[in-house]
Amino acid sequence: MLQYQGKAVFKAIAIGKLKIVQHREVTAVTKSGTPAEEEQKYLAAKAKAKEQIHNLYQSTLQSVGEKNAEIFEVHALMLEDEDLHDAIVSKIREGIAAEIAVEDSGFETAQIFAAMEDEYMRARSVDIMDVCRRVVDNILGREEKTIRLEEPSILYSSDFTPSEVVNLDKSKVLGFITILGSTNSHTAILARTLALPSVVNMRENLDMQYDGKMCVLNGITGEIFIDPDKTTLEKYEKLQAELAEAKIRQEAVRGKKSITQDGEKIAVYCNIGGVKDCEKVIENDGEGVGLFRSEFLFLESKDYPTENTQFEVYKQIASMMGDKLAIIRTMDIGADKQADYFHLPKEENPALGYRSIRICFDRPEIMHTQLRAIYRASHYGNVAAMIPMIIAVEEVLWVKEIAKKVREELKQEGIPFNAEMQIGIMIETPAAAICSDLLAEHVDFFSIGSNDLTQYTLAVDRQNEMLEKIADTHHKALLRLIEMVVKNAHKANIWAGICGELAADLSLTEFFVGIGIDELSVSPPYVLPLREKICNLTAKNCKIKKYL
Ligand code: PEP
Ligand code: MG
Repeated sequence: MLQYQGKAVFKAIAIGKLKIVQHREVTAVTKSGTPAEEEQKYLAAKAKAKEQIHNLYQSTLQSVGEKNAEIFEVHALMLEDEDLHDAIVSKIREGIAAEIAVEDSGFETAQIFAAMEDEYMRARSVDIMDVCRRVVDNILGREEKTIRLEEPSILYSSDFTPSEVVNLDKSKVLGFITILGSTNSHTAILARTLALPSVVNMRENLDMQYDGKMCVLNGITGEIFIDPDKTTLEKYEKLQAELAEAKIRQEAVRGKKSITQDGEKIAVYCNIGGVKDCEKVIENDGEGVGLFRSEFLFLESKDYPTENTQFEVYKQIASMMGDKLAIIRTMDIGADKQADYFHLPKEENPALGYRSIRICFDRPEIMHTQLRAIYRASHYGNVAAMIPMIIAVEEVLWVKEIAKKVREELKQEGIPFNAEMQIGIMIETPAAAICSDLLAEHVDFFSIGSNDLTQYTLAVDRQNEMLEKIADTHHKALLRLIEMVVKNAHKANIWAGICGELAADLSLTEFFVGIGIDELSVSPPYVLPLREKICNLTAKNCKIKKYL
């Protein structure tokens, strides 16, 4: 049995025969004509490619929707790219055959993309290759390449282009593995939409002797087993069957409320990092946004995002979520999230350092601008604001003072906003948890940031891989703090939720329901599994003592 590790793309298991797909050999030089003739060949092939891409766009639109069809809009733009075109034409005019000029220029451009810092841009290099390969095929009069499969198989190749993936006979593809590629590539995006178990970036060249061998692909962990032994095979067959059953059960709670057998309703919200993620919230039946990490907006910018830039983003989120609550967390820059233009000093202990509200104290304009943008967006949906990294009542009072000033300003300026907008805080420091009785008097809700609360309670740096084993998220200290926070919230008649990763830990759902948690905010794919779990519990029977 051979075992490899790649990057998991779509969380499912595939078991079946491995099919090694070899990509076409390097283009053979055909008899070339004069530069003028070669240029004509290239232009005709390019025009044909344009038509083919348009057709692919249309068929993808029909089969898997607009979002996935966008891939071919990107291809159409790449085909028209002036720099690429100029490079090809100049090579042809130097006497190089059209197909070689296209292939070489495509390769050079793809290399530029592959070296880019941004992961999304890096992932575009395969698209350039795909587009150029199409033009080359047209020049040489080669048929569009489709991967033919005799029987259901797990495909393995250096990489698959989006064109190959959309043309696959889906009834025969059990999953795919690539040697290269990133989880951000269009191929990976398509695999997720098509719900194809897949692992990319396995970084191991298999030779043809493995073609047809039995293979297990674990799209949850990224593990790949070739020629698995009996125990491994049985283990994964069982897991595959369990996953299929769980999926059926989870689908049954789609569109339903997250409510226990004895009628306790828990809001199951989602954590998001940008506007695009709202689609995932809707797709996965999330009941709202429990945490929008607004600092991503700051991290993507070259300078402090203006009030209007922020407003547009928050407004879009508010509108997309409609009546559903969308909690916008004020920026949490600092520690592991650094933006150059903040010019933050280098620190010995960044996690215990200059971060979020602590920066805002010295630069109040950041908080003021952000609260203005959030208040303005509150007119377009059901928006709330949430402040991270709180350790003291004074900080809350300071923020509320700014919020009051913002409301007065907007009123004077005649700008509509929701004057009743909830303002909550994150409980992610032991100080905030221990003083939650005092803090509860000044806010509308608590959201427990269990990621940081674990880090600060256990003195375990969340960035330090060596400490992963001792970062025990079931530690009684942490669970006791959580119980205390929820109790204090309820004493003050406010609601309390959890938006750290712990919210999705199904082995703790009984505990959370037992202590009366009001909301759990998780990554979109966890909504249905969590709802299913909640729906099967009876709150009054949930035992909490054993956790404390
Ligand atoms: C947390 O700390 O649990 C949290 C949700 O915030 P972040 O992970 O962004 O620090
Ligand atoms: Mg945090």
